[in-house]
Amino acid sequence: MKKQDEKTKLPVLNIVVPCYNEEEVLPITSVMFENKIKELIELKKIDESSCVLFVNDGSKDTTWQIICDLAKKSPYIEGVSLSRNRGHQNALLGGLMEAKDRCDITISIDCDGQDDINAMNEMIDKYLEGFDVVYGVRSKRETDTFFKRFTAESFYKLLNMMGAEVVFNHADYRLVSKRVLDEFANFEEVNLFLRGMFPLVGFNSTSVYYERHERMAGQSHYPLSKMLSLAFDGITSLSVQPIRYITGFGILMAVLSFIGVLYTLISKFAGRTVDGWTSTTCILCFVSGVQMISLGVLGEYIGKIYMETKHRPRYIISERTYVKKKES
Ligand code: UDP
Ligand code: MG
Repeated sequence: MKKQDEKTKLPVLNIVVPCYNEEEVLPITSVMFENKIKELIELKKIDESSCVLFVNDGSKDTTWQIICDLAKKSPYIEGVSLSRNRGHQNALLGGLMEAKDRCDITISIDCDGQDDINAMNEMIDKYLEGFDVVYGVRSKRETDTFFKRFTAESFYKLLNMMGAEVVFNHADYRLVSKRVLDEFANFEEVNLFLRGMFPLVGFNSTSVYYERHERMAGQSHYPLSKMLSLAFDGITSLSVQPIRYITGFGILMAVLSFIGVLYTLISKFAGRTVDGWTSTTCILCFVSGVQMISLGVLGEYIGKIYMETKHRPRYIISERTYVKKKES
């Protein structure tokens, strides 16, 4: 059922690569990416106008200079530069939005050579089979230190527990088709957590598995503090579940307070109390129960307002039996 003309016309691929202070690793990995494009063109999987699109995220070293030189030398390399450092997620989004009008499919990947570029062949095969989003999922984490593995896996578990739907062990190595990106452009939120947002767009998706290597050169820009802030962003931008926990806690407190009131009354009538204790404890229990529930109710409204402010599309149409007329 996949578009008929695809047999005659090959898809144009853009590999989108955010780079921040990557002068050490870029000369190594840019060759790998370029060779991959050439290989895929030779295999007749992608169109000749495919390219690698590097996004310079306001680097302070010579990264942009290197990208400009590469773009001059090779027809398969292009670059865009952000006006300042905006962080990995924003840089990636910038690259994807830039690419969506120039190609049929994008594959986003980090520039440090950690993700196995050979998984791209399978990703494109999956696209040709009819999948619009293909998640690259790490099959093993053996090259990570125990600490990185533990924190990263806890991160995915915590996200799922908090109601944010993410694909386990998938970072930002994924294939996304143009039509998904066109819909994605309608997600106007500022707090980005791309790996949790693509599942919201829907469409047919699948995963391919690959082994992740160590960084080829340079240093990670994701120390624990940045990982924690990404986790926090992920939870708070995708889900209002933490607020629900407050409501749940409020109900639990109200039940406990009711039992507390019963206990104090029984104690009073059994004559085991001093003057004033019963009334003070009863009021304390009652007020704290009411307060917690009220906080939860307020929270529910704040959660609703928060979701409203995101102006996310309420639905997305993926197929039609007829051709939609262009809006004039
Ligand atoms: N990156 C970016 N902007 C930043 C930080 C990182 O564009 O502010 C890029 C970086 O160049 C790399 C990718 O994001 O291509 C992932 O970063 P890194 O490899 O440092 O993270 P890790 O793999 O250690 O989690
Ligand atoms: Mg990395």
